[in-house]
Amino acid sequence: MDNANLKPSMEGGLEKPTRHIIDWKNPDFLNEEKYEEELRRVADACHGCRRCVSLCNSFPTLFDLIDESETFEVDGVSYTDFDSVVDHCYLCDLCFMTKCPYVPPHEWEIDFPHLMLRGKAIKNSKKKISFRDKVLASTDMLGKMFSRYFVSGFVNFFNNNKVFRKLLEKFGVHRNAKLPKFVSKTAKQLNLTNQSNTSKFKVAIFTTCYHNFNEPGVIKDFYDILKHNDVTVEMITDDNCCGMPKLELGNIEEVGKMMEKNLPKFKNSLI
Ligand code: SF4
Ligand code: SF4
Repeated sequence: MDNANLKPSMEGGLEKPTRHIIDWKNPDFLNEEKYEEELRRVADACHGCRRCVSLCNSFPTLFDLIDESETFEVDGVSYTDFDSVVDHCYLCDLCFMTKCPYVPPHEWEIDFPHLMLRGKAIKNSKKKISFRDKVLASTDMLGKMFSRYFVSGFVNFFNNNKVFRKLLEKFGVHRNAKLPKFVSKTAKQLNLTNQSNTSKFKVAIFTTCYHNFNEPGVIKDFYDILKHNDVTVEMITDDNCCGMPKLELGNIEEVGKMMEKNLPKFKNSLI
């Protein structure tokens, strides 16, 4: 490598973050030896920095593992114990986007969320995703089943019933966890379209599973604001789930398929 091209080392980067693509089709992506090497390199940087301790549960879990190890260093943490760090990350991207001074183009190239996603993808490739997580991540399937006339009231009643919640706990859902309510009429069934003859603006609404099946009022409010401002509105009705819950389980292949199905529908809606 030509050392003349290397930037002088800085404590932290001051440039805007550069995102590298997720190289998930590369065979090395699921190579656990290479992943562990990168995991320990990044964990060591985080151990010396600790800026992100208040962002989520991933970082305190990582720091507790290090502080409670025999060496008080990353080498004292067993590889399998890092699983809990990966599980606590919900890929919000806060650490990368707002906190970390060592993201690319800084020479340390720290990308904690993408590293966590790689850990999740490895877990998924080893078929270690629980049945509960698979069901809960199928938000579109649950919504289609439960957001119906009569069925929604039935499901909401049981989700608030203490005896049923004790049974549901055996399936891995904590009895006090707040569950989303299902509706009898989804956002897509509200026929929210507006054709403006005077406006040059058009908005196509992608409801998302949550707002379609659980909180259609938010979509209705959004539609009312657009209509009030004389904007043409079209509701995308033949889309599918964006795949975010499955991304959080590391099922990148399935997310890619969902994206491929959604993209042409999004493009058609904006013509
Ligand atoms: S991306 Fe993950 S690790 Fe980073 S702040 Fe969000 S939850 Fe925490
Ligand atoms: S992700 Fe960056 S800012 Fe956050 S603890 Fe690790 S090195 Fe520090």
